[in-house]
Amino acid sequence: MKIYFSLFLLPLLILACTTSPTGRNQLLLMGNRQMSDMGDQSFEQMQKEVPISRNSKDNRYVRCITDRLLSAIGENPRSWKVRIFQDKSLNAFALPGKNIGVHTGMLNFAQSQHQLAAVIGHEIGHVLANHGNERVSQALVTQLGLQATEVALGSERSEKNNLILAGLGLGAQFGVLLPFSRKHESEADLLGLEYMSKAGFNPRGAVELWQNMASNSKGSPPEILSTHPANSTRIRNLSRHLSKYTPIYQATPNKPQCLR
Ligand SMILES: [Zn+2]
Repeated sequence: MKIYFSLFLLPLLILACTTSPTGRNQLLLMGNRQMSDMGDQSFEQMQKEVPISRNSKDNRYVRCITDRLLSAIGENPRSWKVRIFQDKSLNAFALPGKNIGVHTGMLNFAQSQHQLAAVIGHEIGHVLANHGNERVSQALVTQLGLQATEVALGSERSEKNNLILAGLGLGAQFGVLLPFSRKHESEADLLGLEYMSKAGFNPRGAVELWQNMASNSKGSPPEILSTHPANSTRIRNLSRHLSKYTPIYQATPNKPQCLR
C-alpha cells in the first residue's frame, strides 16, 4: 500500500505544479472538487454548530461588501454563500466551494466598510490562490517523506480529513493548528489589497485594521491571529503597497456605500 501510494504520487507531483495568482510556483495535489466538497461540508457543519445571525441590517452590510469585492474580480456574488456567525471571537474566513463566514466579533471590531472589506478580501485571496490545497499538499509530502503511513492512505480517512481541515485554516476548531505561512499571508494581503481597491474600498483600511488588531492583541490574542500572524513587518509591507493600490481605488467609479 505504501509503495503503491508513492508510485501513485510521483506523477502527481510532476503534474500538480502550478502557479499562484502572483506568479509563485505551487504544488497542488488535491483536486479542486475535493477541496470544494470539504469546504462545503465544513461550512454546513459550522452552521449547525454555531448560531447564525439573522439581523437583516448586519446581513445587508456584509452582503454589500462581499458583493462588491466579488463583482470586482469577476466572480458571481450569487454563487457565494455568506453567513454571519454569532461568535465573539475576532475571526472571518473563506472556504473553497465559495463560502464566506464573518464572526460577529470581527463585524463589531472592524470600524468601517473598508476595514471589513480588507479582512474579507484577504480571506477570499487565500481561497482563490488555493492556499488550502497547497498546505494540504505540503503536509502530505512531508508526511510521506517522514513515515508514508496513515495520513495519506484510505485506512485513516479521518486523519486525512483533519489534515484537509487544517489546510483550510479550520484546524483550530478541529484540534490541529496549522497557521498560514508567511508567504501565504503576504500573498493574501496583496490579493486582498487588489480586490478591495478594484471594488472601490480604500486600501488604507487594511493597514488600519491590522494596526488595530496588533494593539488589541496585547492581552489574549484574537482568534484570527492564531492562524494569521500579524506583525510590524506585515503592516509595513501593506503600507508600502498603498502607493500602488491607492490610485486603483481612486480610479474606481461608484464607490460602495455599505452602511451598517
Ligand atoms: Zn491570512
